[in-house]
Amino acid sequence: MGLDEDALDYHSQDPPGKIEIATTKPTNTQRDLSLAYSPGVAAPCEEIATDAEKAFRYTAKGNLVGVVSDGTAVLGLGDIGPEASKPVMEGKGVLFKRFADIDVFDIELDTDEDVDVMVNAIGAMEPTFGGINLEDIAAPECFEVERRLRETMDIPVFHDDQHGTAIISGAALVNAADIAGKELADLNIVFSGAGASAIATARFYVSLGAERDNITMCDSSGIITADRADHEGLNEFKSAFARDVPEGDLADALAGADVFVGLSVGGIVDEAMVRSMAQDPIIFAMANPDPEIDYETAKHARDDTVIMATGRSDYPNQVNNVLGFPFIFRGALDVRATEINEAMKVAAAEALAELARKDVPDAVVKAYGDQPLQFGPEYIIPKPLDPRVLFEVTPAVAEAAMDSGAARTELDHDTYVEELEA
Ligand code: NAP
Ligand code: MG
Repeated sequence: MGLDEDALDYHSQDPPGKIEIATTKPTNTQRDLSLAYSPGVAAPCEEIATDAEKAFRYTAKGNLVGVVSDGTAVLGLGDIGPEASKPVMEGKGVLFKRFADIDVFDIELDTDEDVDVMVNAIGAMEPTFGGINLEDIAAPECFEVERRLRETMDIPVFHDDQHGTAIISGAALVNAADIAGKELADLNIVFSGAGASAIATARFYVSLGAERDNITMCDSSGIITADRADHEGLNEFKSAFARDVPEGDLADALAGADVFVGLSVGGIVDEAMVRSMAQDPIIFAMANPDPEIDYETAKHARDDTVIMATGRSDYPNQVNNVLGFPFIFRGALDVRATEINEAMKVAAAEALAELARKDVPDAVVKAYGDQPLQFGPEYIIPKPLDPRVLFEVTPAVAEAAMDSGAARTELDHDTYVEELEA
């Protein structure tokens, strides 16, 4: 059977879908039931009524994330609507559970693509959740939805398509720059794409130490210039990256660049463009399923070191969001964080970058078909199935939350790591 048939079979086996609710307390006796529900349940209700934070103590809120989508930008499938996005949102729940033991309600909203409706609907769900993972919402609406919710909600709101990519590829950038012997602040960085993931990634690279003035962004019409920003009515998010340079296309932008970041469409970069880049170029071709340029083509274009990452699992350096969101939310939930702020994201990226420099355990090497995994151009970020990601990234995020004032509770670092390892 092909992958499609296998997937339909997988999803339709009884019971349909991929998730169910399980109870965590005894429900065997009449007494159990009168504790779980009326009349006993009134006691925790009254406790929470006097202090809302006690919901973390008496309900599942503190380990529950809402994965929320309007279905407008689903995987590479586009605007397929909320109902059709449900398998993806259930799948996201599966990953949260598998990698960080976090429970998820998947919430698919029919909002007629109205930002106000979406913001009101999600904002009203605050009592239910310890955090909100926005998923597969189209740009530029996704920026406003997230900004408004972050302002009003007292739990983390995190649009994974934006920040997941930014954080994982940011970790890759830190290590790639190191291997190429270049400083982040000196890198000339060219983006192809100016959508949800590209805008967030460019912003995040600035948080990591890149210079905004060294970033050139291209959309489907070419370089985003100051002139275009003035005359074409570009959205504010693109305009923020407009450069006062002559108009041109991606090939013009790439000449002499240190870094290419592709978050656009497959097959738009050729060998000549790679050859025009600076020494030891860094090429993150992350369009899915087909990268902006193939791994082999990019590698063979030049004699010096091409440091390459893609979104694909069949080549080295896969930028896979599963390296981020489970552990970032785990750390945030465990300190009852009110937000996932820039300091927490930077901490996650730096922890990932650092982990890639350590020796890889044999079990992880085996899980990836015995290919050598050693820090260098072919291994700049950890592998998703490396169990150490939990022990490194999660405490780093929790610590950054405490240091930046986003945590509602304090944890002792060493005790916390021991608990995670248990
Ligand atoms: P998006 O919000 O729809 O943005 C797509 C951007 O690509 C738009 O700015 C669009 O330009 C631009 N574009 C389209 N055709 C182009 C061309 N020929 N040349 C230059 N730019 C072009 O999508 P997204 O969510 O950011 O995702 C973009 C891509 O990145 C997708 O392929 C996605 O699968 C991939 N991605 C990968 C990862 C990963 O590897 N972990 C994570 C996130 C996204 P206009 O603005 O002019 O329309
Ligand atoms: Mg997504």
